[in-house]
Amino acid sequence: VLAAEAVVKRFGAHTVLNGVDLALGTGQSTCIIGPSGSGKTTLLRCMALLEAPSDGRVVMEGATVSQARPSSDVRLAARKVRPEIGMVFQQFNLWPHMTVLGNIIEAPMRVRGVSRDEAVVTAERLLQKVGMEAKRDAYPARLSGGQQQRVAIARALAMQPKILLFDEPTSALDPELRREVLQVMRTLALEGMTMLVVTHEMGFARRVASHVVFMDEGMIVEHGTPAAFFERPTTERAKRFLNQFD
Ligand code: ATP
Repeated sequence: VLAAEAVVKRFGAHTVLNGVDLALGTGQSTCIIGPSGSGKTTLLRCMALLEAPSDGRVVMEGATVSQARPSSDVRLAARKVRPEIGMVFQQFNLWPHMTVLGNIIEAPMRVRGVSRDEAVVTAERLLQKVGMEAKRDAYPARLSGGQQQRVAIARALAMQPKILLFDEPTSALDPELRREVLQVMRTLALEGMTMLVVTHEMGFARRVASHVVFMDEGMIVEHGTPAAFFERPTTERAKRFLNQFD
């Protein structure tokens, strides 16, 4: 569905991504892991079209949707696919002045032109899916972090994205709240949602992901199934990284 092709990202003189190729197949869930500062979040943000690559391109279903100095065709393609790429952030980013329901129906109504009634029906179904139907009319400030993140997932799903990108979705949560969020993500993966997840949750990567990508210093150093990566990492860098979790 979505692919990074030879993506380079520089911030000033600092090269953060140094030629990354990553293709995400339909129905696959891919976890990006690696040391702090290796470029995981930057790669995710490039693929979410939140950050433009300095070189290389991002391709969705065969069309270039992001590159440095984009042509008008690329801009047009980006505008079309942006609603199809869902994003869940580390800090939830719910709108504080809107209820849970308001947060979920806003974008489908504004961006997709869905009627309010239809948006509410969809929102209620999604709230049930993430176990938050009882908090429909609550404001985000009254919810725990885990509850807020589950609402943020429902909000992303309400746009009917073709792919869902997660940027360290449990890093801001206390350990006991992480599980409820990971459980929702696991269900989505099992249902065949195409997902890309930057995470430090090795258990999730091992048990849920169909592919694991290991990044170091702005490059993909290993890419394989969780079984291959966790049982038989091939590089010294990956071995050293995994040792810290033993
Ligand atoms: P972590 O696991 O700590 O979140 P990461 O692998 O996700 O790390 P990135 O957040 O992608 O790493 O950052 C990679 C490097 O890029 C870091 O050195 C960071 O300081 C730098 N960087 C990221 N965003 C910017 C920016 N907007 N301007 C300048 N430098 C940036």
